[in-house]
Amino acid sequence: MNELDHDKLLESIARLTEKRNRLSLEICLTQTMFDLLAVEEIALYRCEADQANLLVRVDHEGCQVPSDDLDDLETMIPVATDAGFLACVQEQQVVVEPTAQGNRHTFPIPRHDKLIGFLRLVASRDLREDHRLVEGFVQIYWNYLKLIEDNERDKLTGLLNRKTFDDKLLEILHASRRSAQAKLRREQPERREGDGGKHYWLAVLDIDHFKRINDTYGHLYGDEVLILMANIMRSSFRRADLLFRYGGEEFVVVFKTRALEDAHNVLERFRQNLERYHFPQVGQVTASVGFIQILDLEVAAELITRADKALYYAKEHGRNQVCSYEKLIANGALADPDDHFGDIELF
Ligand code: GH3
Ligand code: MG
Ligand code: MG
Repeated sequence: MNELDHDKLLESIARLTEKRNRLSLEICLTQTMFDLLAVEEIALYRCEADQANLLVRVDHEGCQVPSDDLDDLETMIPVATDAGFLACVQEQQVVVEPTAQGNRHTFPIPRHDKLIGFLRLVASRDLREDHRLVEGFVQIYWNYLKLIEDNERDKLTGLLNRKTFDDKLLEILHASRRSAQAKLRREQPERREGDGGKHYWLAVLDIDHFKRINDTYGHLYGDEVLILMANIMRSSFRRADLLFRYGGEEFVVVFKTRALEDAHNVLERFRQNLERYHFPQVGQVTASVGFIQILDLEVAAELITRADKALYYAKEHGRNQVCSYEKLIANGALADPDDHFGDIELF
């Protein structure tokens, strides 16, 4: 950008700060810079555990957002294997390397004394004059990201909050509806199960007798149990799983597995980790879990109601256990809402 078009710049900053969620902010940032700087390619990466994960890439072909599937190796680059990323980490400043399409400029995205990501631009023209501008965009991005992240998390535990749950579940339901429709159009009914046969599951986790903990040890200890419970959840589930504090001492996890048994095992592993943990002063804490498969037909409210039914069943049958809604329906322990034979008896 040789002649700075101030109106265009202001417009793009306004567009950027309009965004209310992380992905739309990231897409907007990458697309805006691509339009403004006339480069060949821009990619935004997030750093996690010595790995750079691709978030968005824009080039002349369009915008690419990789699916959040964990097994997508092409979009996950170990920082140590990429000279540009590595130099960026060591020097904590922009690194320029020649490539076939032009120079590649890798900018660090710092937060405090840590790198949270990289912005990478490939330009066939000289981009050095615009380095300050790119750094300014990076600064706006991470200031704004912090605001969005604070808004989507629960203050006590740092897990995602109830509002974020509503948004994410809608996103998941829309995405699974779209992919089911696309598969129907391709007339491949045998492959309608989702990517690699994986399904989404929703589990509601509720601490057993939490009121007793508050009453016996006081609210401060109660709060500490909630914080430690969130830590046990973070260490029991995978990085891509979505962990929410749904309210009070109730938590929700949304995760993907192939079969019901796998989902049960994942939740059972968490239940055991919690049961084995020694809470300061309080000692042992347990939780009951109800879970259900997320099918594209269901609306969010009905999913939670059904998972709650499985949770109440677990509570009524001794607590400290994991119950599947589908299994309870199949073995007759819960009434099937789609089974209308009961109505016939009325006539
Ligand atoms: P059950 O095993 O049936 O789930 O019993 P429970 O005692 O856990 O369930 P109940 O719903 O009766 O009690 C939940 C309690 O959680 C009541 C409320 O005071 C407490 N609580 C809700 N939010 C918070 C919080 O943020 N901090 C603390 N310390 N307590 C909370
Ligand atoms: Mg409870
Ligand atoms: Mg409760």
